[in-house]
Amino acid sequence: MAVLAHFQKLHFSTFLLTRAQPPLSSLSRQFNSTLCSKLYRLPTLIRSQSALSAAEPIPVTQLLEPPPPSETQSPISLDKLFIPPETQVSLDDPTTRVLRGSNIVLSKYARDAQVVQAEFVKSSVRTEDCPSDGSPEFALVGRSNVGKSSLLNSLVRRKKLALTSKKPGKTQCINHFRINESWFLVDLPGYGYASAPHECRTDWAKFTKDYFLNRSTLVSVFLLIDASIPAKKIDLEYASWLGQNQIPMTLVFTKCDKRKKKKNGGKHPEENVNDFQELIRGYFQTTPPWIMTSSITNQGRDEILLHMAQLRNYWLKH
Ligand code: GDP
Repeated sequence: MAVLAHFQKLHFSTFLLTRAQPPLSSLSRQFNSTLCSKLYRLPTLIRSQSALSAAEPIPVTQLLEPPPPSETQSPISLDKLFIPPETQVSLDDPTTRVLRGSNIVLSKYARDAQVVQAEFVKSSVRTEDCPSDGSPEFALVGRSNVGKSSLLNSLVRRKKLALTSKKPGKTQCINHFRINESWFLVDLPGYGYASAPHECRTDWAKFTKDYFLNRSTLVSVFLLIDASIPAKKIDLEYASWLGQNQIPMTLVFTKCDKRKKKKNGGKHPEENVNDFQELIRGYFQTTPPWIMTSSITNQGRDEILLHMAQLRNYWLKH
């Protein structure tokens, strides 16, 4: 029952735009045929260097000015956008914004995105042992070496916070970090670590799957994918498992600063991002949200925090 209630809360895209809801596929088709061609007018969100720093919180409205023409990202068709609930995408509405380097439309719930405080709380070996105060949480997961610790540190603007979960004995745990004393970032064990014994790898999978299926305060899994290399089978399997089990998921593409085609299997990050989505499309009723990031340049940092804020604020209200 708890799991069902959780899904009901979280399937944002199913609340999209309508009162009497047609099946999702036909909804997408409907948009596709009527609006898609004009959608490219949607401007994208400008990202300033330290827009969400703790020292100088900047209201969201200041982030919403249109970017200079050179910074406008390639257009995304309407059926490939992630439209949060209670959000109207209208071609006549100049305030409609897509977060830069992502397919995520900004909603009225995008506020309080700054991280002003972060602390490690606890490591748990079972879902039942996780903090029980009911605060919403986001779980970061990805293949070993994908850049999870770097991203976590970049999100909280601390150099070594995530090292806590790299300490011996903690790598196989569910590690909770409390943010602003009101929500959690959760670091889950990396998967696909080549030198781990096979039974150990299976154990990790079982353990994280139990967490995904039973953690009622989990708002969304953030699945990290290395965009500097072509899609890996294990990542595709992970994403499709989440899709098949209807676990809300955001794809976070890491290492988007690595642009040398030769070294990276012949493709730019943007191409790997598109390829990955094509490969998992069949497993999702609607397009999952995705964001391109780099822990070197901080690309995507503010966008992730805004996305988390809008998911969280909606979750808290419903
Ligand atoms: P984890 O095992 O997933 O926690 O990965 P780490 O955060 O420890 O990063 C693994 C390696 O990738 C390290 O050498 C990092 O410096 C590098 N790395 C992480 N994020 C980025 C990124 O955004 N861009 C680049 N170029 N390298 C990165």
